[in-house]
Amino acid sequence: MRAMPQIREILAARRLDHVHYAIRDLAVLADELTRQGKQILPLNIGDPGAFDFPPPPHIVEAASKAMRDGHNGYAPSLGVDVALEAIREEAEQKGIRNIQSIFITEGVSEAVDVSLTALIGPDDNALTPSPEYPLYSAILSKLGVQMNSYRLDEGCHWEPDIEQMAGKVTKNTRALVLINPDNPTGAVYSRSTLEAIAEIARRNNLVIFSDEIYEKLVLDEQPHIPIASIAPDLPVVTFSGLSKSYLVPGWRVGWAVVSGDAAAVKPYVEGIHKLLRARLCANHPMQYAIPAALHGPDDFRHEALRKLRVRRDLLMEWAKATPRVHCVAPRGAFYAFPRLDIPESDESFVKSLLAEKYVLVVHGSGFDELPGTRHIRIVFLPQEDILQEALDRIAAFLQERWP
Ligand code: PLP
Repeated sequence: MRAMPQIREILAARRLDHVHYAIRDLAVLADELTRQGKQILPLNIGDPGAFDFPPPPHIVEAASKAMRDGHNGYAPSLGVDVALEAIREEAEQKGIRNIQSIFITEGVSEAVDVSLTALIGPDDNALTPSPEYPLYSAILSKLGVQMNSYRLDEGCHWEPDIEQMAGKVTKNTRALVLINPDNPTGAVYSRSTLEAIAEIARRNNLVIFSDEIYEKLVLDEQPHIPIASIAPDLPVVTFSGLSKSYLVPGWRVGWAVVSGDAAAVKPYVEGIHKLLRARLCANHPMQYAIPAALHGPDDFRHEALRKLRVRRDLLMEWAKATPRVHCVAPRGAFYAFPRLDIPESDESFVKSLLAEKYVLVVHGSGFDELPGTRHIRIVFLPQEDILQEALDRIAAFLQERWP
């Protein structure tokens, strides 16, 4: 009998070497502790559905009605008309003009993937924020693109450092990524910052990718300004969706609005549409929740924002009272990104905190923070008693390690 050939180890592609998603990677360690019977306090994942933020009933009804009404086959690749119309109407109300395309995707994640893939080649680069939300570096790594990050300035409410950003543009820079309100810092950018960014894009012929998934979760009086509304001449892709503003991340409903000069963006839009056709369509029945969401009542969100403000304030009280913790107050989304004065890496801090105090936060290096700085990202979605308990444990842990 002939010996069977030995099956060799199947290695993953080298381009994945730079793909990291610390938010979920750490959850693997937490799952192991849970299996051992430990109860983990999770301050790591931005999923409102895991806490006391139920989805608005009128959008649940719209999605289930769509299934009962038979919208269960493939949808058009860009999305269903009633949903695209609702997105257009809202974008125009927010002052976005020159809309050249709207498309619906499996969460904002897919919209970002398609939009970056259709634009950026292996010799190009895109300016991304540091700290960043790691979806961007994961997609750029997959595309074989070198990272080129600009600095968010902690000393200035985490707004982008405009001068440094301008200096980062090279002849191969095609795009600039902006997350507003920001994950992980909770910053909401001012009009003057947005105007300065638009000017950099205008001077260098860059496409702006503006991730506005947290657009409706602004905690203070400051308005949220879509950058597309102040730069109608520029190519801007604005991302949003139901995941955060409508509390249903598991539904995987996102979209993008491409605006700017029609002739300039035409070839790029055709490229995007080609990719969208190749992947058939987004989840069909869930798209019917979009008009219900955008036209429906938003009292559920007033309640969500009320809870988030109380929890943000509780976190800031803790940060002020806790030695070694410095925190810029988040103005949007549900994340805080405090800096720690500690003599070890934030990654080892976070792992020990999990192992010893059963509190799960994410280390700043998982968000490509500036080298030499040490941060943790805290999700402040949990109910006050859980949040307070978790924060007390972090304070106690700091005190025990560095009295
Ligand atoms: N963009 C940002 C800034 C995010 O924080 C997230 C999720 O946390 C996403 C995109 C992904 O959105 P979705 O769940 O709609 O794919």
